[in-house]
Order: sequence, then structure tokens, then C-alpha cells
Amino acid sequence: MKIIPSRRVAAGFAAVFFCSLLVSFTNNLQTDTYRIRTIVIDAGHGSDIRGAKGSHAREEVVTLQVALKLGKAIQDNMKDVKVIYTRTSDLSVPLYKRIDIANKAKADLFISIHCNSIVNNRSTTRGVETMVAGTARLGEQDLALRENADILLEKDYKKNYKQPIIDPEDMIVFNMMKQNLRLQSIRLATLIQDEYVKTGRINRGVKEQPLAVLQPAGMPAVLTEIGFISNPEEEDYISSEAGQTEIVNCLFNAIQAYKKQLEIQ
Ligand SMILES: [Zn+2]
Repeated sequence: MKIIPSRRVAAGFAAVFFCSLLVSFTNNLQTDTYRIRTIVIDAGHGSDIRGAKGSHAREEVVTLQVALKLGKAIQDNMKDVKVIYTRTSDLSVPLYKRIDIANKAKADLFISIHCNSIVNNRSTTRGVETMVAGTARLGEQDLALRENADILLEKDYKKNYKQPIIDPEDMIVFNMMKQNLRLQSIRLATLIQDEYVKTGRINRGVKEQPLAVLQPAGMPAVLTEIGFISNPEEEDYISSEAGQTEIVNCLFNAIQAYKKQLEIQ
């Protein structure tokens, strides 16, 4: 779709916005233009969209418990951040709607919580991994990025951006924005994995995968697998109060570190 002129302007400023993020991100330069205001937390599965099953726990129950605890930790400790859940009960929410909620809210972060499972080697395979959107379907982000660009123009343009408009005719600007989202998603995913490791978890790494729930995201987005529900030890851990508290602390610490890095005073 050809970009209409008003959107070209918006896209230009949005590109400046994302580029400035990239600069501060990579070079640790000072900027006062960015704040994380809204975080969407997605509890995987729910209702008839059943997740994986352990010997006593169910994925959709565990993910909801962890999502609600994470949301509470953020609301209690980050007063400037609004938390939005894709579900707060045993509801069936299609994947497209989950990321749609985040895009419509112009969220700054999207975090999807899941439990891993494996059919073979049920008892031995374990560990944690965090996914970011793979590059195969990055084109789906274009619409969300354009919409976000409009909002950025309305809210922040006059106050925050005095730079000359870069020529947005070229889709390169969108590619830069997408690459920046990818870098930020990887950054958050890495911080999450680092926190898991500190608590003695097995690190299965950060992976890029073409996941439907992440692909159309107009913001940094990760899907974290908090443990194998098919592994008896990890099933006990992820469904226990102590285990969930530890997982939530890991996620919260990672978000806090990520927020601090981007919101340089
Ligand atoms: Zn799942």
C-alpha cells in the first residue's frame, strides 16, 4: 500500500523516534524522549484453546497465574506503567486478538507467557527459552508501525522532534524501525534469560521464530517459555507458589533493567 503524504510525515518522525532509540540503545547516549508507559501481558492459551498438560498442572492455568502475578508486581512497583492483560480468567482469546490488543493500546512492550512441553524425553528435557519474532513474516508489522507512527506524530512531534524530516518515500525507514524492534525484543529476551540463569535455570537461549502471536507486533515483543510442564521437576516448580514468585521476579527484573536502559534521564 502506498503511503499517503500525512503518513509520510508521520513515518519520518517515527523513524527518527525509533532511530533515536537505537542510538541510545547501542551507544548509551542520553535521551529524554522515550518512556515505557504500557505493557501488555499475555497469558498463553485459555478455555477451549488448551495448552500443554503435565501430570497435575495445565499450561493455561499456570500461564494465567504467572501473568497476573507479573502484572501485580509491575503495578505495585512501576507506578508510571499501565498493565493490560489479554485475559484475566479462563478465556479463549485468538492469537490475532492478543497482539491486536497491544497494537490498539499502542503498548510499549508485549510479553507472552507459555510453558514448554515435549513428547519424547518427557522426564529429562528442561530449561527456559524466550522467543522473538522471526524475520520470515516481518512484513506483517508494517501496518502496526504505520498506525503507531500516526500516534507518535500527534502526541510527541512538536515537543520531541525538531530534526529535519527524513525522506520517508523509501521503505528503508520502515525496515530500520522493524530491525530496531527486533533488536529491542532480543535485548529484553536476553535480559529475561540472564535473570532465569541467575536462579539456576537451564538456559535454552533466545530464539527467533515466526510465531503468529508476535509477528504483527508494533512494539518490542517476546514469548517466554517458563519451563517444561512435561518435566516432573519443572512442572512442580512452575505450578508452585515459590517457583512462580521466582519466575515473576526474573521477568520483573528483566523489564526493570530494560526500562532503565531505554529511559535514560
Ligand atoms: Zn503454549
